Amino acid sequence: MKQSNEQSAGLFARANEVIPGGVNSPVRAFRAVGGTPPFISRGSGCRIEDEDGNQYLDFVGSWGPLILGHAHPEVMAEIHEAVDRGTTFGAPCRAEVELAERIVAAYPGIEQVRCVSSGTEAVMSAIRLARGATGRDLIVKFSGCYHGHADHLLVAAGSGLATFGEPSSAGVPGPFASLTRVLPLDDEEGLDAFFQEFGDQVAAVVIEPLPANNGLLIQRRQYLERLRELTRSHGALLVFDEVISGFRVARGGCAELYGITPDLATFGKVIGGGMPVGAFGGRRDVMQHLAPNGPVYQAGTLSGNPVAMAAGLATLEVLEREDGWRRLEDLGMALEEALAPVLDAAPFPVSLVRTGSIFWLSLQPGPPPRAAEAIDGAAADRYRALFSGLQGRGVNMAPSAYEVGFLSLAHRRSDIAAFATALAETLAEVE
Ligand code: PMP
Repeated sequence: MKQSNEQSAGLFARANEVIPGGVNSPVRAFRAVGGTPPFISRGSGCRIEDEDGNQYLDFVGSWGPLILGHAHPEVMAEIHEAVDRGTTFGAPCRAEVELAERIVAAYPGIEQVRCVSSGTEAVMSAIRLARGATGRDLIVKFSGCYHGHADHLLVAAGSGLATFGEPSSAGVPGPFASLTRVLPLDDEEGLDAFFQEFGDQVAAVVIEPLPANNGLLIQRRQYLERLRELTRSHGALLVFDEVISGFRVARGGCAELYGITPDLATFGKVIGGGMPVGAFGGRRDVMQHLAPNGPVYQAGTLSGNPVAMAAGLATLEVLEREDGWRRLEDLGMALEEALAPVLDAAPFPVSLVRTGSIFWLSLQPGPPPRAAEAIDGAAADRYRALFSGLQGRGVNMAPSAYEVGFLSLAHRRSDIAAFATALAETLAEVE
């Protein structure tokens, strides 16, 4: 049980003086659920501890990167070893070649990769590359998908923005946004109609093949296949944003899971093992448009940083060696089994939506939604009660109804059982 939050409250007050909203990324401010965010001081395995000494069983995992859990010994050892040799050189290093080789070996259709320092940067760069390679300007994205905070993608984006109820951000010029078209997910007819009219102007269609920023909106394979056909036949590049799903749902991400090969894919989170890393990759002929080989400019002082590369490489190594993706699927199934009776007994409709180690509680009746428009707005109110009940019982979930949860290889069946118990107690309280 939570004891005190004196330290976190004090730090949050100080933070609010010198950092807008007290946070360096908006959803951390807890506006959607209320209360003071705990300031986290350490993590180990599937547990984190805050500045007041409260411990939590963690299902956020830093929003996805920590697929092995917090402070995995092998990742820590590789980071330490790399740090001892120096933190950055701004010159090529061995580890970036090895990480690129791993991504190329793992992901269908990728022949070359470039590393950057965040998911936002990866998608932003992939979009510029697509525009440069096709000579076209129009971008298509989908309502409910989030691709980071680059100007042309903050157009009806999800994630934190969905919570704030804002369709887009101030500061994004209208002319930028007008080059981005937003379509609903799960709607082949809408796709067909759009492509018939505008298909030949489209540089890139960017999609989270497993949309995980507005709940978990699992798409039908036929829908993604239709998207593949239409982009191919109109000469538009299909960009799979696998910043969350890459190396998490399978070694080859959603491309492997669905058997659909995009033209470009973007990565982040897992490939950085908890350090700031992103990457984008694709066919050689497309990637050759990038500087210094081609005219599309893209660069970064800390891109391919040796310490970050070491963390990513160690993470991918452990995942491969320990048959990580199969074990995470087993854990996911265990979560389904443990939660089924708890959710059945809930005072309002709750269902568990899951792909591998990514899960989401859908707080509405009927089948899980597949499009942002199908999410019931009242779910956010129900989530608030769930969130604080769980937090008070030492379970850390994302502070928003629209964010997913993550399992890691550090979670044990006993942790899942503890989660089920805490959820049952919370649900019994919230009526
Ligand atoms: N794409 C997707 C699918 C994401 O989920 C995110 C972040 N959650 C991003 C891009 C942006 O990544 P970052 O926060 O590292 O900039």
